[in-house]
Amino acid sequence: MKMEQIVNFCKNYGFIFPGSEIYGGLANTWDYGPLGVELKNNIKKAWWQKFITENDNSYGLDAAIFMNPEVWKASGHISSFTDPLIDCKDCKTRHRADHLIEGFTDEVIPDKMTDEEMVKYITDNKIPCPNCGKCNYTDIREFNLMFETSRGVVKDSTSKVYLRPETAQGEFVNFLNVQRTMRTKIPFGIGQIGKAFRNEITPGNFTFRTIEFEQMEHQLFCKEGSDSTFYKEYKEKAWNFLLNLGINEKNIQFHDHDKLSHYAKEACDIEYNFPFGFSELWGTHNRTNYDLSRHQEYSKKSMEYLDPETGEKYIPYVIESSVGCDRLALALLCDAYNEEKLENDTREVLKLHPYLAPYKVAILPLVKKYHSEKAKELYKKLTKHFVSIYDETGSIGKRYRREDAIGTPLCITIDDNTEKEGTVTIRDRDTMKQEIVKLEDIEEYINKRISL
Ligand code: ATP
Repeated sequence: MKMEQIVNFCKNYGFIFPGSEIYGGLANTWDYGPLGVELKNNIKKAWWQKFITENDNSYGLDAAIFMNPEVWKASGHISSFTDPLIDCKDCKTRHRADHLIEGFTDEVIPDKMTDEEMVKYITDNKIPCPNCGKCNYTDIREFNLMFETSRGVVKDSTSKVYLRPETAQGEFVNFLNVQRTMRTKIPFGIGQIGKAFRNEITPGNFTFRTIEFEQMEHQLFCKEGSDSTFYKEYKEKAWNFLLNLGINEKNIQFHDHDKLSHYAKEACDIEYNFPFGFSELWGTHNRTNYDLSRHQEYSKKSMEYLDPETGEKYIPYVIESSVGCDRLALALLCDAYNEEKLENDTREVLKLHPYLAPYKVAILPLVKKYHSEKAKELYKKLTKHFVSIYDETGSIGKRYRREDAIGTPLCITIDDNTEKEGTVTIRDRDTMKQEIVKLEDIEEYINKRISL
């Protein structure tokens, strides 16, 4: 399947539109349409349920996007959150040097190379510019990915603030607030869902890489010694969560990092087989006590936890689980999209887990003239409990096809028997089989079919 197909599908059915399209767009921005926003809401609900509500001793947070700039000094983002950029002198396009090398060979790992080594490799091997095909580049410039803006009336350096490039720092700076107010003990977790911003200049592969995106991050605070056990647990938790959402196991793989950041003890990604190949979807990292120690150093506030039983004081280790909601939505869309050959034609069908489907149920009068009144009555009732859609236009076959394409798991058809016998037919998206169900049993029927 090609990415272009998914992009067109999302645009045509109201999932995702190009950002500011009528003005020619803005690179790497996308707007979620009526169906896309429902899908994302369902993903976030499922994540929150698994990582906060059901998760032992875990608490939610909604931290501010703007943080004191000292946070980003302590976290290392100001000094080292950079991409190695290189410009083509001929066509003036800008590229990531590491991506040029990765696209050219598997034999070297750009993450392990210095900027000078990368430039040498690119010129020695005459790696062509993806835009014009020439090999005439500038030197590498390290480009910071954080967006900055200024607050207040006077634009000077003291008023510079950053749009957060990750949500995790909110958890770190609130670690003791949550521990104290929830009167909790280690191990405990804090998680949040929120927007993050990165000045990504390279082509984004649709919503895979955008300049603003939503992260779903969870930090588990634990004692050194128990960290590796929790690291394994969170790796598996992420994997099982994806399977539970219906992702095809063949399309995901673990990638354990060989080269670790200086603070990380263990790190891995779950990669998804996107149309452009296996790429990072979800990271799990054992970050040791690096983040809290740095905040202690920069803020001069103690980040120590006092164990009430032993009286011991220590800075906890952190296991971080981090996934982009948008990247996960893209993976789920790619995974669910099918063109199914039927006897006489093909149908587009989006086999999303019913829990994730934008509409749970479509209410369709068989013949508009005779059945629409009863159908509207049922729609009014169901829409209080389920995100539902009412459609009376076109043949019933065409309406089924449209619902298949947008992933609606159940179609309820109102016909003469609804009035006479108090029944409806419910059609299943995947099997296309129909069942007769009594009006009073519909809600229970739907509930059984859509739970996670
Ligand atoms: P990449 O190597 O793809 O740039 P990363 O390693 O920088 O990603 P993290 O900082 O670990 O990513 O962010 C955690 C998660 O947030 C990623 O696994 C991904 O799902 C998501 N994410 C990161 N950057 C973007 C982006 N620009 N657009 C959409 N999602 C993103």
